[in-house]
Amino acid sequence: MNDVCRREPDVRLAAESDGWTDELRAHAAGCPDCAAAAAVAPWMQRFAGMPDREHILPDPSVVWLKAQLLRNTAAAERVTRPITSLQIAAYLVVAACWAALLTWKWGAIVALVHRLTPSGMVLGGASGAASISMSLLAVVLVLSSLTLLVALHTILAEE
Ligand SMILES: [Zn+2]
Repeated sequence: MNDVCRREPDVRLAAESDGWTDELRAHAAGCPDCAAAAAVAPWMQRFAGMPDREHILPDPSVVWLKAQLLRNTAAAERVTRPITSLQIAAYLVVAACWAALLTWKWGAIVALVHRLTPSGMVLGGASGAASISMSLLAVVLVLSSLTLLVALHTILAEE
């Protein structure tokens, strides 16, 4: 402790609060210890005033919002993921079935649509046409179920 100038605390205080006296300034000019203390004091004061953490944590609500956005992005990526070749094949088979049905039963479908119009309802009502439309209805029902099944499989496969 002997090699430390006893005026050094006064010099540090003067440097921090800018309370220099002529006598103290003259001492600091001649004493290397006090000169160093006076030079370092402003920096030390700034250093002490700095926050402990360089990276202060963001607001919790901002973190929560970011998490929600990231989750939505992940869900969107899952939805836009390309469908498998098996699903494409299933879609093609169902589409081919629909095309075949429409080609095969086009006459019956046209007749059915005509019978659904008000004038057709008045003029129609033949029992023979009704039995044809029932079988057609059954095929349409089966194909609709298949279409729904493939679509549901696609949706469930995403999850
Ligand atoms: Zn000194």
